[in-house]
Amino acid sequence: MLPDFFDSMVQLITRTSTDLPPDVRAAMGTALATEAPATRAGQALTIIAQNIDQAESCEGPICQDTGMPTFEVRVPVGANQIWMKQQIRNAIAEATTRGKLRPNSVDSITGENSGNNLGPGTPIVHFEQWEHDEIEVKLILKGGGCENTNAQYALPADLDHLGRADRTLDGVRKCILHAVWKAQGKGCSPGAVGVCIGGDRTSGYLHAKEQLFRTLDDTNPDPRLAAIEDAVMDAANQLTVGPMGFGGKTSLIGCKIGALNRLPASYFVSVAYDCWAFRRLGVTLDAVSGAITSWLYRDGDRRSNPMLTPEQLAAGFPRTGREVRLQAPLTDEQIRSLKVGDVVLVSGRMFTGRDAVHAHLMKHDPPVDLRGAVLYHCGPVVVKDGEGWRVTAAGPTTSIREEPYQADILERYGVRIVIGKGGMGAKTLAGLKESGAVYLNAVGGAAQFYARCITRVTGVSLLEFGTPEAMWHLEVVDFPAIVTMDAHGNSLHRDIETASGDRLHTVGG
Ligand code: SF4
Repeated sequence: MLPDFFDSMVQLITRTSTDLPPDVRAAMGTALATEAPATRAGQALTIIAQNIDQAESCEGPICQDTGMPTFEVRVPVGANQIWMKQQIRNAIAEATTRGKLRPNSVDSITGENSGNNLGPGTPIVHFEQWEHDEIEVKLILKGGGCENTNAQYALPADLDHLGRADRTLDGVRKCILHAVWKAQGKGCSPGAVGVCIGGDRTSGYLHAKEQLFRTLDDTNPDPRLAAIEDAVMDAANQLTVGPMGFGGKTSLIGCKIGALNRLPASYFVSVAYDCWAFRRLGVTLDAVSGAITSWLYRDGDRRSNPMLTPEQLAAGFPRTGREVRLQAPLTDEQIRSLKVGDVVLVSGRMFTGRDAVHAHLMKHDPPVDLRGAVLYHCGPVVVKDGEGWRVTAAGPTTSIREEPYQADILERYGVRIVIGKGGMGAKTLAGLKESGAVYLNAVGGAAQFYARCITRVTGVSLLEFGTPEAMWHLEVVDFPAIVTMDAHGNSLHRDIETASGDRLHTVGG
């Protein structure tokens, strides 16, 4: 039965995780050309471009969060869907073993990671029959940071900076703009949105996600929806949220809208936000052998056009000469000399810690001395390397999830630097001031770029939480990031959110 099907699925998963499709590359190339190289936005986009090329050349995950694998499969009448689903599950486990996917499937009751990306609800596989002889499989890998910025509105509604959104297409436009503004840098902007008008709460989100299977450069066949897509793109890119929420000219690279009928009493607008690491590919398969007959969204086996020239790629992080070098562990004096906007290059020891570690530290002493330390909000992809470990992908995760814990951890254990993405809230900002610490925003999704700043894994603690949630002990050299919250009460995130809120009122109202 379909002897090549399993291999085809492993190929599809591998390529989706490691090689961004041409339409997304083109949109990111346009964004890169729009920003001046020495700005925060320009530096972030250059790191992203390097990361995209590095991932493709080493066949490593573009982002360490390889997301929720969602398959849309169309099969001829009579195809054995039960067998195919099992083969897809086997392929997911295989791709995880090969380090192309991070173990991402967590038992919601026990918190245990299954380790192979299999479990109730993972992966998501939808089947549909069609009147063709071949099989079509599309895959999207959408990570948690951007998934957490999805939004669903029930109209009519009152929206910050935009006023009332009625049950009209203009009300829909306002909801989408509001969702983009709310996301700021938390979903690793510039992002793309899939939108559903109508449906119920469940079908609306599903249909919104399905819109992300459209190419970024297509035109909506419904001229009414095409007009809103254009209007949203125009206004969203005047918000100045910018790459990673650093401020800048590109906040959105795509807006794709669909519609479903609704109940008379309901009017939902569902927005599925995807990050710049917009990983989506597809294949058609021979229905007898299961071999790949063509690729969707890309030009066959032709290598993707690189984002940068070999010289630009070799040049690494674009420096201005104003970067501040920091060597961990850090002192109070060093930290208080930093201010929002400083670009820093961190070297020395760094410890990862995300949700499970933060919850643990609220009740237990840390497994290592954290005085003066750098705490990195990161769930890396780590593989065994002989007796040791090797990090193959290590970008930052969304920091706001640690808001309830962070200030306490700073105070109790003397952490001096927190690195993550998307920024943190008022409680942490006060904690940074009180304890003498700073928050650094690294470039979200730049997993390959940052993995290359890690020279060694010196140990691991709390591995019982699973690979992404463990506390990894790392040695890093020249790890670049931007001070976005300092020890004097300043926050770039707060400033950009306020300024972009004013812009939202002007361009979206
Ligand atoms: S690029 Fe950012 S939002 Fe997207 S999967 Fe990676 S960490 Fe999550």
